[in-house]
Amino acid sequence: MPSFVITEKCDGCAGQDKTACMYICPHDLMALKEHVDPSTNEVKMKGVNQEPVQCWECYNCVKICPQQAISVRCYADFAPLGGEVTPMLGSDSIMWTVKFRNGNIKRFKFPVRTVEAGNVDIFAGVGEGKADVARIKEPGLCTQQASGDPRATITPA
Ligand code: SF4
Ligand code: SF4
Repeated sequence: MPSFVITEKCDGCAGQDKTACMYICPHDLMALKEHVDPSTNEVKMKGVNQEPVQCWECYNCVKICPQQAISVRCYADFAPLGGEVTPMLGSDSIMWTVKFRNGNIKRFKFPVRTVEAGNVDIFAGVGEGKADVARIKEPGLCTQQASGDPRATITPA
């Protein structure tokens, strides 16, 4: 089952130039479309998964939605099939709310980072922390070069 928008919760990312779900979807599936409220006939812009059969269920839109307005089924490796999951992403942790198919609700909180946002040292643990520019045409990554990883010096046949 692909991700789907709970229209009652979605505010269309009001005030943003692009909705969060449109920004994050790696398959460009999310769109903003007019939605008619069946009880008031009011027309509002809401996010929608416009091509559900193409959805990878990658959870990106589900996690980024600021209104927790996107839902998706649970992966079978953390809850039995037939459930529904809604995450709430914080600055250092994520809270998963799982609604099991029998109606039970459980919440799990996990840390998502060990370093404060914006303070990651991308060269940590790789020697001097410098890439050797003279070796730029060699295959491999600068982190492999700096750490002396022999794979960085393998020359293709
Ligand atoms: Fe609606 Fe959430 Fe998408 Fe924003 S990110 S448009 S609130 S579904
Ligand atoms: Fe796109 Fe992933 Fe959301 Fe599916 S679950 S609509 S692929 S972001």
